[in-house]
Amino acid sequence: MDYSKFGNMMERNRIESFKKWPFDDKKACSVKKMAEAGFYWSGNEREPDTVTCFVCNKTLDGWEPTDDPWKEHAKHAPQCNFVKYGRKEADLTVQEFINVFSVAVKARMDKHFNKTLEDFRKCAEKEKEKLLLGK
Ligand SMILES: [Zn+2]
Repeated sequence: MDYSKFGNMMERNRIESFKKWPFDDKKACSVKKMAEAGFYWSGNEREPDTVTCFVCNKTLDGWEPTDDPWKEHAKHAPQCNFVKYGRKEADLTVQEFINVFSVAVKARMDKHFNKTLEDFRKCAEKEKEKLLLGK
């Protein structure tokens, strides 16, 4: 199955998102461990150690080689549904995974909805202004 359309929701896609990462596989916060804990790479050339959670959208940077991704995730985003299970993708039941997945999808849809509504509001206000000035 092609999971790429689900963006960074699958662990393997999160692993692939890391274009640059300052820590190797032997470190506690290796790419694999980061992806397991729900993080995908949201960094750039200047700040390569920036990641974001695919469920709660929490962005974290300033990683130390000994940092445990799950612990940091739980510390900074205790409300995250992925953190609540606290297990990597392979260790979740299909139902648990669907629960996490639905929260992530809904958050994306809400964000898109709010952005669309806000864009429309701005357009409508401009149009209204034009109409009032035209009188
Ligand atoms: Zn999270």
